[in-house]
Amino acid sequence: MITAMDWLERAAKLRQWSRDGVRAPHKPLLLLYALGRFQANAADELPYTAVEADLKQLLIEYGPSRGTTPAYPFHHLVSDGVWEVRTARGVGSPGTGVGELRASRATGRLAPDLQVALRREPSLLGRMARVLLDLHFPASLHQDLCDAVGLDMELSEPGALAAAPGRRPRNRRMREMVLTAYEYQCAFCGYDGMIGTVPVGLEAAHVRWWAFDGPDDVDNGLCLCSLHHKLFDKGVLGLGDDHRILVSQHFIGRGQTAREQVTALAGRHLAGPQPGTRPVAAAHRSWHTGQVFRGSPRPIAA
Ligand SMILES: [Zn+2]
Repeated sequence: MITAMDWLERAAKLRQWSRDGVRAPHKPLLLLYALGRFQANAADELPYTAVEADLKQLLIEYGPSRGTTPAYPFHHLVSDGVWEVRTARGVGSPGTGVGELRASRATGRLAPDLQVALRREPSLLGRMARVLLDLHFPASLHQDLCDAVGLDMELSEPGALAAAPGRRPRNRRMREMVLTAYEYQCAFCGYDGMIGTVPVGLEAAHVRWWAFDGPDDVDNGLCLCSLHHKLFDKGVLGLGDDHRILVSQHFIGRGQTAREQVTALAGRHLAGPQPGTRPVAAAHRSWHTGQVFRGSPRPIAA
């Protein structure tokens, strides 16, 4: 029998392809993606044609700048014993050719014995994901990556809710929905940085935290730059009535940058969301004000 430890070792072994500091996150990204999809729906088949666009986006955002086709990990991950590809002809990948993968209607899935192991031991999923995240990415990117592949690490904590009734599936489109609603701009400062066509330093913040029943919904989200997301989650920034920005009186920033980036935001209107999109719901806003925001807001500067 293949033990949980063996599965963790197989996940860790994907690191051997990155030598001399050269990153090779292609297989780890596909495996993270497959684990996320398995957590959302264990019965899901992953047709190449559907995986292709998602994986391409992950490679652009989290891979090195030399381009690689999603077909490469889709085919080669099979040899690591964690992934299986099937076509109408049966088990086996047709190769790394994009045309072949598309034409043969290749579908991928976690290897069947890995699926059995994950069902038997729900904490294994989070442990495998943790190995992949730790070995290939800095901690600052872990949450973004989990969001991008729809992985909820808390669900997989040992003894946690994994098998509990009423577990809530994550919506892996949350980030995209929120960023689009706010037109790829920080709702507080208007920051809108991109690398090529990919937004960078922009995040989808939950107003009411997921851990406290906050939904993955556009009316519970804000597109924020990394700095303002952090300050919002720490209660330095908040949302007042009329969708104006609150700045805590506890916040001290003496330098010009802190004044411009934070203090000066007090009383400003949020930028967005675009017309036709639901703004932050009052109930979520007041949860944040009551549970997260620190003390009293600064008066609005004249
Ligand atoms: Zn910002």
